[in-house]
Amino acid sequence: MAKQYCEKCGKETEHKEWIQQKPSQYGKSRKEQLKAFLDGFFSGWGGHGLASIDLVDRYVICQACGNKKLQNHGEQFK
Ligand SMILES: [Zn+2]
Repeated sequence: MAKQYCEKCGKETEHKEWIQQKPSQYGKSRKEQLKAFLDGFFSGWGGHGLASIDLVDRYVICQACGNKKLQNHGEQFK
């Protein structure tokens, strides 16, 4: 958990990171799923994990009020 500013609370509160996988741009078949996995795997290695971040939505959830905030900045969560 990390302290972050919550707009609802109007102050810094404890936030929990929550990651949700985005709906895949790939098809539903096993072959397509494997392709998606491999693409994410290799682009993750080659691009220092930056590409794989595109596959998920990163949220932070305020532990005081439960406010969920999308946080897709591509920067490391501190
Ligand atoms: Zn809050």
